[in-house]
Amino acid sequence: MDANGVFFEAIPTDFWSAFLERPFQNCVCCQCDLPQASAYVIQKQFVRNEVVLEMAICQACRQELSESFSEETRDRIGKKLAENAQNSASSHRSTEYSLISPADLLHRFMNRCFLCGRARETSNRYSLTGLFCGDQIAVQYSPPSQSPVMVCEVCEKGYVELLSQKTRDTWERFVEQFLGDPPESEVNTPHDIPAFF
Ligand SMILES: [Zn+2]
Ligand SMILES: [Zn+2]
Repeated sequence: MDANGVFFEAIPTDFWSAFLERPFQNCVCCQCDLPQASAYVIQKQFVRNEVVLEMAICQACRQELSESFSEETRDRIGKKLAENAQNSASSHRSTEYSLISPADLLHRFMNRCFLCGRARETSNRYSLTGLFCGDQIAVQYSPPSQSPVMVCEVCEKGYVELLSQKTRDTWERFVEQFLGDPPESEVNTPHDIPAFF
């Protein structure tokens, strides 16, 4: 992979809609046709391999949602991602990743926590987030970001602590409006915010 290399692969079934049992078709907010969209994001949260939250959101709506989060939150998350990118393991990874085929890279990104490297099968709760274009998933590694991203429960908690009250409220409203309530027993309140945002 070159410095800003992006590869495209078929969408893995883990990123299909569990509800539809096929790839996502529409943006959760504006309902636009995703297979026609130039870019969109899918985020799914799992508890013991059961999907407890899933959404696909087009780039325009994602941008709007992200801007509605507080500046304080965006600052803190930006700093945390930059720190992560700067640690020595990360620069070592860039070189290592350049030697791996896109299909293997995709597999690795989906099965190892982006932040701590924990294996997905040892995580009780985790989220998967990816960037998509039409009917393909983007596979890319360009610190501080990556697609797709798996984040384990422990690391996700670290992120949630960075969120301001305003951001938590905005996210709660978004979930209520567009996603409805997931089964209560499965989800912490407030709902975890996609690390990707
Ligand atoms: Zn949209
Ligand atoms: Zn982790």
